[in-house]
Amino acid sequence: MNRLAVLGHPVSHSRSPAMHTAALAALGLGDGWSYEVIDLAPDEFEPRVRAMEGEGFAGANVTVPHKGAALALADTLSETAREIGAANTLSFEAGEIRADNTDAQGLLDALPERAGKRALVLGAGGAARAVVWALVREGAEVGVWNRTPLRAEHLCRELGGAPVGEPDSAAFELIVNTTAAGLRGEDQLTELPLDPAGFGTGQTVIDLVYGDRPSALLAAASTAGATVVDGIEVLVHQGALSLEIWTGRNPSLDTMRAAARAQR
Ligand code: NAP
Repeated sequence: MNRLAVLGHPVSHSRSPAMHTAALAALGLGDGWSYEVIDLAPDEFEPRVRAMEGEGFAGANVTVPHKGAALALADTLSETAREIGAANTLSFEAGEIRADNTDAQGLLDALPERAGKRALVLGAGGAARAVVWALVREGAEVGVWNRTPLRAEHLCRELGGAPVGEPDSAAFELIVNTTAAGLRGEDQLTELPLDPAGFGTGQTVIDLVYGDRPSALLAAASTAGATVVDGIEVLVHQGALSLEIWTGRNPSLDTMRAAARAQR
């Protein structure tokens, strides 16, 4: 049995097990492969990861708060993971741990074809690093706003883009929210520096954070006629790329999307 898992803390809410299990079954790999969820506190992460190959694991996805630790313990790094400074995909083979980052390409794969290049990224945490790296590489002109401005300045110095103090919502063709604003019950739009009156057709608004309903940000953008992409779409694309690394097969995006959306 080739075991796979998602490692995080907390992680019980993850839609990755349902999504990957459905994809493996659709590929005809349901008998030889499995995907589980493993909650690891920060001090448990490294010893457990080092034991995983011996326990039959071929790989793992890594989520908050372990993406930096995953990079630090790996023997080999993809160029993308090294440049972003975070890994969301680990592979175990012949005693070696390899780290990849599929968050960046996952975001690009989830972009609508005609998304513009004048981009605003909200946030300067781990997810923002992958998004800024990906958009800069695509030739976008990237502004970065963060609640704590110093972090935006550091991120831009390392990865490109320019810090933005008070963004004008109407001035951007693409807006990507990577912040956790709203997750603790606060009003998402009050926490973010966006005026929904500035949203309109021709804009694409992406929210990496997802739940059972569209976020307040996506609801406002959609009402104004913008194209919206939610975090599940990005999750599906990064997950498909991870599964391809582990199995060498191209999973069905439709199968993964349906399974991820069916979970509550
Ligand atoms: P992180 O490293 O902890 O960063 C959190 C970011 O959110 C920081 O920029 C922080 O600003 C900001 N923030 C938190 N609370 C805020 C508030 N009330 N108002 C404004 N800004 C606030 O976390 P992360 O790894 O970047 O992940 C962020 C979110 O993206 C998580 O919910 C994660 O689940 C989601 N995500 C989704 C996908 C996907 O595939 N859909 C992929 C990756 C991540 P400060 O610097 O000021 O604290």
